[in-house]
Amino acid sequence: MKAEIISIGTELLLGEITDTNAPFLAAELPALGIDLHWISQVGDNQARLVKVLKRAWQRSDLILTTGGLGPTADDITREAIAEVLEERLKGDPALERELREFFARLAREMPLTNLKQATIIPAAQAIPNPSGTAPGWWVERDERIIVAMPGPPGEMQPMWHEAVLPRLRHRTGGTIIVSKTLKTFGLAEARVAEMVAPQLSSANPTLGVYAKADGIHLRLTAKAQSQEEAEAMIAQVEARLNQVLGKHIWGAGDDTLEAVVGRWLLERKLSLAVMESYTGGLLAATVSGCPEAAPYFKGGLVTGSDEARVACGVDYRLIAEHGGEGAEIAPAMAEAARSRLGAAVGVGITGVDEPGTVAAKTFGTYHIGVVTGRQRRLVTGSYPGDRARVRRWAVAAALFELSKVLAD
Ligand code: AMP
Ligand code: MG
Repeated sequence: MKAEIISIGTELLLGEITDTNAPFLAAELPALGIDLHWISQVGDNQARLVKVLKRAWQRSDLILTTGGLGPTADDITREAIAEVLEERLKGDPALERELREFFARLAREMPLTNLKQATIIPAAQAIPNPSGTAPGWWVERDERIIVAMPGPPGEMQPMWHEAVLPRLRHRTGGTIIVSKTLKTFGLAEARVAEMVAPQLSSANPTLGVYAKADGIHLRLTAKAQSQEEAEAMIAQVEARLNQVLGKHIWGAGDDTLEAVVGRWLLERKLSLAVMESYTGGLLAATVSGCPEAAPYFKGGLVTGSDEARVACGVDYRLIAEHGGEGAEIAPAMAEAARSRLGAAVGVGITGVDEPGTVAAKTFGTYHIGVVTGRQRRLVTGSYPGDRARVRRWAVAAALFELSKVLAD
């Protein structure tokens, strides 16, 4: 079943509200085995809505709309669907009764404008709206379905769960879609795509490659008749990806780098301390953001000057020789954090965080040192973009390096 979503409302096009209905519905469809092909937004304008609906009617089996079912003159979803299907809107006595009862329960007089919410076309069945006045419509004709739901998420979502979802589940006869995301670090997006080229061309499971703030993600999506079957299909491709990408894969699903590193520190009963200048405390904030961080995170030192680095235990001779942004300083910072704060593992980050070029060193270049009782590692990297992005990337790089050290 090929689906499309249409979000209706001029507020959407004016940027006054953000369309949350379409993402909500989009996230519901995979488990039903329904393929979503398009999402559109259109204002409260009948001619344009009719155009969008006609196009949808031609290319999709299932059309989900939200919005435009209110009582006012600019709510034209019913009128537009009637126009597309060339059917006549007629008042429905049962719907009118329900509407009057809704107002009676609130002890309010029903404005006459609300009567249009009690109109319907022959191809449509009303879907009850327990949370508001606008009934939804389930429209079925020519092997196509339009489901029109109200705009307010507080009305649309209950209607979806109580009436629309069960009906669609019944229809789709059991096809389900299962997805799994694998997360990598340390390889460029194009390189990953090249390495997984055979899997990228597979039709089922499909594979998508996405660049994210914590590395390159690979999303596997399998379609099957049962959960077990879909999971087995994914497991097979996942095994292959593990062979190809090896140590670059650091997690899956909802894993975050800081949670993975935290778990490993806990398992190995190791503690962590950090010293950072380049990232200004972002590494400490990220690590300590894990709710389970207390047992392993000893603390972080943020240094903004050579004096501060020396005060925190970095050898002033080293700084005099290499400068506070030199590569050699990062492991020294890691070592100093480790000994000052009494941790098993130390991480230090320094780099050129001022815009422009400082003595042949370019903005965006970072150095990361990871020091344990047995190991002393230094990685240098760089990342384009604004300050916030560069810092986030350096934090991810530091956590990934730490994960590699812990894995050894
Ligand atoms: P409507 O039924 O089109 O008059 O929409 C009524 C209200 O529902 C709007 O003023 C919004 O607050 C909310 N709403 C409508 N469409 C959406 C949407 N796509 N996403 C989030 N909220 C919406
Ligand atoms: Mg509206």
